Amino acid sequence: MSPSIIKCKVMIRMHDMSTKVAMWQQGICPNILKKLKSQVNSSAYCHAISCGRDTFEVQHNDHKWTVDLEIHLRCSTMIISGHYWQLAGLPCCHAISCIYYKTNKLDDYIASCFTPVEGIQNWPTSQMAGPLPPKTLKMPGRPKKNRGEGNLMRSQRTRECQR
Ligand SMILES: [Zn+2]
Repeated sequence: MSPSIIKCKVMIRMHDMSTKVAMWQQGICPNILKKLKSQVNSSAYCHAISCGRDTFEVQHNDHKWTVDLEIHLRCSTMIISGHYWQLAGLPCCHAISCIYYKTNKLDDYIASCFTPVEGIQNWPTSQMAGPLPPKTLKMPGRPKKNRGEGNLMRSQRTRECQR
């Protein structure tokens, strides 16, 4: 594939991606929004009861779950299905029913990694010292031989002497 064809493909891809980004209506990625919508639809079948201090008991079908919105942002379903909320950064249907019980601000409980990020020029500068490279460790075993060009020249010279 010639470089001009690759250049054209990259240009078309960049244009497609920029038009897709321009169509975003919310500050969350569309794929994540699709996952969130399915959880919101499931939350219609959850019934949340407040236990005080942002803890809830949620009844979903025949099961009951506990949800903690304030401190841990977790639902007791994580015991069975893994830490979905903590791993995915998206609240599960039980947590969504509690969030709607408390407020209508679902965006506050979605991980910030799903929102667009500004370029590196706009990042705030830190007052902390920059990271340092790790110290070099002397590994066990015999050190490697240097097989560069200098050694090759020396071996050729010895061959000439033997003739
Ligand atoms: Zn849950």
